[in-house]
Amino acid sequence: MKKYSIIAVGDIMNILEETKYIMNKYKVKANKNLGQNFLIDEQAIKDIVEGAQITSEDLVIEIGPGLGTLTAFLLEKAKKVICIELDKKMIKILNDRFIAYDNIELINEDVLRINLNEIIKQEKESNNIKNVKIVANLPYYITTPIIMKLIESKLDIESITVMIQKEVADRLIEIPSGKNTGAITYTIYYYCQGEKIREVENTSFIPMPEVTSEVINLKLRNEPVVKVENEKVFFNIIKSSFMQRRKTLINALVNAGVFINKEEGQEFLEQANLNENIRAENLTIEDFASLCNIFCNKYYKK
Ligand code: SAM
Repeated sequence: MKKYSIIAVGDIMNILEETKYIMNKYKVKANKNLGQNFLIDEQAIKDIVEGAQITSEDLVIEIGPGLGTLTAFLLEKAKKVICIELDKKMIKILNDRFIAYDNIELINEDVLRINLNEIIKQEKESNNIKNVKIVANLPYYITTPIIMKLIESKLDIESITVMIQKEVADRLIEIPSGKNTGAITYTIYYYCQGEKIREVENTSFIPMPEVTSEVINLKLRNEPVVKVENEKVFFNIIKSSFMQRRKTLINALVNAGVFINKEEGQEFLEQANLNENIRAENLTIEDFASLCNIFCNKYYKK
């Protein structure tokens, strides 16, 4: 049965009118410090929901629901939606707006501080949830820390569908050694398969952000894409290689203290079949895995 919230009037008003109505009613202004750019483009919302491939058996965790525009659509598709929102004012609005729904839970917390593993474990045990999907129009000021937390916490989730700045999105879903490659490209590629859903112009929000946005879907892999002896060493080599990305890989890694000296660097690169003048952004993920394993063989061998 379709449920109606007391101010979810999308059928009658368009989303822009609805957003203005709610902001007026609750006398709230978008808080720039919290990255509040509210989505007012119904097609973009539908594309996010479709891109996330939500089923009636899924738990969706929405980060930063704001006024609840995307939430209203998620609630119609998912078994349950858990919303994590830092702004107390938004929690009050969401509470009123979705009072008639029994499949929503609101958590007034900073997503960077909350224990998502614990929440997911409890939901899987007590609510017979099969799959967990994360969906969000993320606050742009902390996009990268949030995504890194979601990935590095090794959450028991199926996918992450987020709208973020286009520039960052392109870096996240790039194939390593492609033109947008950065250190984060390898981390994402190691754990996930990334896909672009669509771009969203800045006119689709109030207030308008300065940048174009992009919706991406990251599907968590069952196994990392390469085998490495030690993940910490692997990611440390990648991070160090990109700290001075304009330099050659050897120079960057000697300067970062990963290689003792140039001679050791040449020896490692030769063993990994890499040209001595190569730069970090030209390495495939397999190249970094070889370097890591050669390094571990030399220094961590029992
Ligand atoms: N989902 C809404 C939409 O699409 O219109 C709002 C998206 S707005 C870009 C980002 C939301 O994240 C805001 O509601 C903001 O208050 C919330 N937010 C900002 N920092 C947060 C944090 N550290 N933890 C949880 N929510 C946060």
